[in-house]
Parts: sequence; structure tokens; C-alpha cells
Amino acid sequence: MGRFDGRVVLVTGGTRGIGRAIAEAFLREGARVAVTYVSSEDRARELEKLGILAIRADVSNRDEVRRAVELVRERLGDLSILVNNAGVMYLMPFEDYDEGKFDMMWRVNVKGIIYTTLEALPQLRRTRGVIINIASNAGIGTALEGTTYYAITKSAVIILTKRLAYELGKYGIRVNAIAPGWVETDMTTAGRSPEDVERTKALIRSRTMLSTTGVPSDIAGAVLFLASDDARYITGQVLLVDGGRVDYLTHGV
Ligand code: NAP
Repeated sequence: MGRFDGRVVLVTGGTRGIGRAIAEAFLREGARVAVTYVSSEDRARELEKLGILAIRADVSNRDEVRRAVELVRERLGDLSILVNNAGVMYLMPFEDYDEGKFDMMWRVNVKGIIYTTLEALPQLRRTRGVIINIASNAGIGTALEGTTYYAITKSAVIILTKRLAYELGKYGIRVNAIAPGWVETDMTTAGRSPEDVERTKALIRSRTMLSTTGVPSDIAGAVLFLASDDARYITGQVLLVDGGRVDYLTHGV
């Protein structure tokens, strides 16, 4: 018996990294799992072989999202767990503002959650479902260089989580966010030399109480907890999963 036997789960951006770990963890616990993605066709086929429904759908395109959510219902049944995970990050210091990159992060990281949640809502209302948004500790105010504009989008995810919890509680829908710290995935390593990645990891370790960086399964474990009935009285919360990062910018509170 799995904790999520027969429950229908959609993980946006589930072909790689954190989303993939979440999708596979739900599958192991008996759920019927779908993921969306934009470009990773080979990885999508691998997931199909495992029994995961992989749908090509850009979260920043509402028509594609509508079709994907409808396909999940047709193939697997009404959704009861939505994990809004798809995200993109472009590093740029404040003074190097790039309109196109900022707009892309806003469309995927923020509008993507709005569109997916709106389209999934009729199903989630019927199942009294659960929503988990993947924010970032950047959205709370970490001091990693180049993440200012990304942080703005993740801060929006945090307030959106609280407002959705407030507005959807009347339907019995719980909404929470996970704010991961630095997790080794393509997002944090692609296009960088091994030495450069190792330098960043050493920096993160030096700023973390547990002196270690994260792996995707660390985030999956927290997502499954928040999606489970063990968390039935938890909503509107942001759970930091960052090993105890100490470089938060705000003083006090
Ligand atoms: P990743 O390795 O870059 O994987 C991103 C996933 O999202 C891929 O499956 C990708 O699909 C998909 N995706 C990207 N744009 C999409 C779009 N427009 N529509 C649908 N799917 C899209 O990223 P990750 O590190 O696993 O990050 C996952 C989430 O955690 C993101 O929201 C990220 O901001 C957040 N996060 C990550 C870290 C970290 O340290 N890694 C820390 C805090 C928060 P394709 O494979 O088709 O490209």
C-alpha cells in the first residue's frame, strides 16, 4: 500500500531535476502521475516507460496548459495533487537588467502557476485537492549574487501561495509552498565548468548550518509530506528546505 494509492498528481516541469524526483516519488507511493515539459523529448519517453504520463505543454501558454490539464483528466481521472514546479532562472546583477530574460522568468515562474492553478481548479474542487508551489529561498531574501530578478518572481510565488490558501480554503483545498535552497540540477550547473560548480557548492556549504548542498530527493520528501494527509491541517505555509542557510539579507524578523 502506497501513501498516494490511486491519487492523480500533476507535476509541471517533471522531466528533469526536482520535478522529476517529485514525480518518481509519487509514482513509488502508488499515485497516477503526469508531468509537463517543454523540450526534453527523450526524457519524456523514459518517463512514459515508467508509467508516467508526459505531456508537452509550456506553462506560460494558457491554451497548452488547458489542453494538458484536460488530458490528465481524460487519461488518469480528476487531479487531486498539483505541484507547480516548472521554473527558469537567469542570473543577472540588478544593473544588467535584461527585459526579455526577466519577462521569461515572470511568465514561467509566476504566470505559469496562475494558469495551471486556474485550469486545474474545477478538478481540484471536486477532489478537495492539494496544491504545492515550488518557490525558492531566494524569494525570502538570500545573498547569492545574480539572483535579484529571479528572487522577485519567487517572492511573488510565496505571496500567491498565501493568497490562494486564503481564497481556496473554502473548497477544502490546501495550498503550501516549498522554498528550496541550493539543489544540484541542470538549473544550477548547466553551462558551468565543474570547477565553477564546485566553487559555488563550497560557498553554499560555508553558508549552511548542515554544511551540505541539496539533492532533488530532499525536496521531493517535503512535497510528499505536504501533499499527504499528515499535513491535513497545514495550509498557507512556506517550508524552507535549505539545510539551514544563514545568508538571509533581512536583519531581524
Ligand atoms: P531544471 O533542472 O532546470 O528543470 C526544469 C524543469 O522545468 C524541466 O523539466 C523543464 O522541462 C521544465 N520547464 C522549464 N520551463 C518550462 C515551461 N515553460 N513549461 C513547462 N515546463 C518547463 O530545474 P530545477 O532545478 O529542477 O528547478 C525546479 C523548480 O525548483 C523551479 O521552479 C526552480 O525555480 C526551483 N528551485 C530550484 C532550486 C535549485 O537549486 N535547483 C532552488 C530553489 C528553487 P524541459 O526538460 O523540457 O526543459
